[in-house]
Amino acid sequence: MTSWPLDKPSQLWMALSRERFEAPALQSEIEADVVVVGGGISGLATALELARRGRKVVLLEAAKIGYGASGRANGQVISALTRHGPAAIRALEPGEKGDRLIALVRDAADMLFALVDKYAIDCDACRNGWLQPAHSEGRARRTTDLAEQWAAVGAPAAALSSHAMQARLGAGGYHGGWEHRGGGHINPYAFTLGLARAAAQEGAFIFESSPAWRIGRVRNGWLVETPEGRVSAPKIALATAAHTGNLWPALRRSIVPVTSYQAATEPLGELATRILPDNEAVSDTRIDLRYFRKDRDGRLVSGGALALQIGASRRLPALVAKRLHNMFPALRKKRMEFFWGGRIAMTIDRLPHLHRRADGLCAWVGCNGRGLALACAMAPVLADAIDGVPDDELALQPSKPRAVPLHAITSRIARFILPWYRFKDSCEI
Ligand SMILES: Cc1cc2nc3c(=O)[nH]c(=O)nc-3n(C[C@H](O)[C@H](O)[C@H](O)COP(=O)(O)OP(=O)(O)OC[C@H]3O[C@@H](n4cnc5c(N)ncnc54)[C@H](O)[C@@H]3O)c2cc1C
Repeated sequence: MTSWPLDKPSQLWMALSRERFEAPALQSEIEADVVVVGGGISGLATALELARRGRKVVLLEAAKIGYGASGRANGQVISALTRHGPAAIRALEPGEKGDRLIALVRDAADMLFALVDKYAIDCDACRNGWLQPAHSEGRARRTTDLAEQWAAVGAPAAALSSHAMQARLGAGGYHGGWEHRGGGHINPYAFTLGLARAAAQEGAFIFESSPAWRIGRVRNGWLVETPEGRVSAPKIALATAAHTGNLWPALRRSIVPVTSYQAATEPLGELATRILPDNEAVSDTRIDLRYFRKDRDGRLVSGGALALQIGASRRLPALVAKRLHNMFPALRKKRMEFFWGGRIAMTIDRLPHLHRRADGLCAWVGCNGRGLALACAMAPVLADAIDGVPDDELALQPSKPRAVPLHAITSRIARFILPWYRFKDSCEI
């Protein structure tokens, strides 16, 4: 198995990517309309949107494009939040505001695949749907309800019986579930590089190896300093997700970064025709969820989390292999070929949050593990926030960052809740 240091994007996705992108480090002083900090999907899609609106945009990436979660994700394109369906969103945000957020989530996968099409992004995009199998009878009732709620607001969603789910997965053991036919999967690293190419094509100025070290207010806006350059602009957007540092301490304290690991089998050969024969992406209903999809060579790419990080490069692939073997006994002879990890920005309420300050600083955080499509849908919203669209016309209501209680301790011990999650999952009937 190829082990890959956790400080680099996925070696699998890099090896499979035909997209290439390189940018210089910032070594001068530039004036712009907007500075975007962070070269993941959020920052790039926002820079692309702003450039299309005619803004002069400078994007600063601390490392290389795709260094963050965007280059390490499982690649599932999901048009649904982790916890809140339409009814729960409406309970939180009644009326038009709730409807706008529901539409944003519903259309998120459309937005991602539209970018793939418009800019011919070569990322092995496969739009054959997303499945959520239910691991208990209770969850099957909830997923049926969820499918009905999403279908009622116009999403291509439907409940699946346990028999239908078994046929779709190529494995039994689930109590039905639901499908969202608008979902699918991509090579997330290739998609991120393709977005960078598209943003540059639309006129955004992108710099790699250019960490925003310091941001400060100047007369007409913001001054952003990097090791070798400076950018001044009236507006600044932070798209730093789980890598958020101290540029805006309140933003960092509003999220808990959680490490998630990925592992991929060697190519499955003929077996690939029997596992996920229709090539969907899958994430089940467990809190410590099981998820997988195939890559273009027929590897099964899956992942999980660990409470203790020691020996992760050995323990995580073994855990994933055991879970996959339980589902697909024929996989027993296949070895795990790739391993990597990344960090996810979790919010306490599991919702995305948009923040806008009167001094021109904007951000959104809270992908909660489902950020690929959401980041594409949030880009025009962040661009609207930057452009001064009034609060009650934005698709997501801006709020003040709310600190996670006891943040310093919570972010260190969050992963130790995992055994409790596994216990809860196993108790569900
Ligand atoms: C292992 C894993 C699996 C996942 N699987 C899925 C999935 O299957 N489906 C799904 O929808 N979502 C998934 N996610 C979540 C998804 O990857 C993220 O929601 C999404 O990529 C977030 O994109 P982003 O641009 O907001 O953040 P990132 O991609 O993390 O980008 C943030 C960037 O900001 C840069 N940065 C930070 N500070 C500075 C600074 N001061 N100056 C300049 N640059 C800075 C970082 O270097 C980084 O590149 C997964 C995440 C992980 C980690």
